[in-house]
Amino acid sequence: MPSKRDYYEILGLNRNASADEIKKAYRKLAMKYHPDKNKDQPKAAEEKFKELSEAYEVLADQEKRSRYDQYGHAGVEGTFRQGGFDWSDFTHFEDISDIFGGFSGFGFGGSIFDQFFGGRQRSGPQEGRSLRYDIEISLEEAAEGIEKELRIPHTVACKICGGQGAKLEDISSCPTCKGSGQIQRGQKRGYTSFVSISNCPSCKGSGKHISKPCAKCDGVGYTKTTSKIGVSVPKGAEEGMRLRVRGAGEASENGGPPGDLYIVVHIAPHEVFEREGKNLYIESPITFGEAALGAEIEVPTLKGTALVKIPPGTQTGTVFRLKGKGMPDLRGYGDGDEFVGVMVMTPTKLNAEQKEMLRRFTDSIGEYGIPNRKKSKFGGFRKRS
Ligand SMILES: [Zn+2]
Ligand SMILES: [Zn+2]
Repeated sequence: MPSKRDYYEILGLNRNASADEIKKAYRKLAMKYHPDKNKDQPKAAEEKFKELSEAYEVLADQEKRSRYDQYGHAGVEGTFRQGGFDWSDFTHFEDISDIFGGFSGFGFGGSIFDQFFGGRQRSGPQEGRSLRYDIEISLEEAAEGIEKELRIPHTVACKICGGQGAKLEDISSCPTCKGSGQIQRGQKRGYTSFVSISNCPSCKGSGKHISKPCAKCDGVGYTKTTSKIGVSVPKGAEEGMRLRVRGAGEASENGGPPGDLYIVVHIAPHEVFEREGKNLYIESPITFGEAALGAEIEVPTLKGTALVKIPPGTQTGTVFRLKGKGMPDLRGYGDGDEFVGVMVMTPTKLNAEQKEMLRRFTDSIGEYGIPNRKKSKFGGFRKRS
């Protein structure tokens, strides 16, 4: 990773800049990297703007700023999502909304930046917003695969006007913005003129004027509903897996296609199994007698039980593998295994007779109870594992 630039340097400030100076510097640079002024290099401008916004996110906040002053980047990394600053970490859009013309929140997976700028650069119908819905299933369900029926509240394009908000003959172009959906304002400060663009207040950016709104949807073009959506969670589903249901998100606000629904699968912790990829782990108690003499023990699997052969002289911590008893492979490459670790249990409630028997047994086994115990100073001892 390249070393990160100093936040003060990015904003062209010195370290004792006041809150007001920080805001002014940020606004000035935000205008400089406005996409309208960087049409030849939009990607570079976005990167630059993102860097500025990260610096501003930290320096505009008293607490974050003082942590940054003390510890540098390491002091504030934790406040951003993994992988570093992202637009969804940015909380100061209102400080530049007049420059950029407002924004309307964020969609799943998409960057705020895209919505923020994309809305003006793109013309014509836009896709509706995507939705996220979280479900939790059991480990057994993840192993078998499962069909779920969900009830998802969302908006759908109005059936009467087809999402247009009115009958075609009742729609004309907005007289305020002449159909562009935006209002441009020029401002001169010193020798520089700034152009600020905002959504048209009359049509709220749609560019349309509706003389008689659709009676069904009141002219917004969509209605609220709850849809039953069937999803099938595949065998071997993993924690955090996303299932995409095309077109099941929110309706478009201007006649475009609907957004998608993303179902995020969570797997509930299991009572006894721990999962690592395709493999399952479990610990099984065995008696001292079983460990010493050998035995066949029954252990649970996800689909029932299986027998594990314990050879004579088995120690605590020995792990046995049950081939193919783990989770199925999501891509069909063969099932995982179940690993059974054994734990030798010490008996606790012995009666007088049993204690006596055990004493005699211990005497009879003598120094062979622990191999090599008496052969040298460290005989029988070992490093902790
Ligand atoms: Zn309608
Ligand atoms: Zn308008």
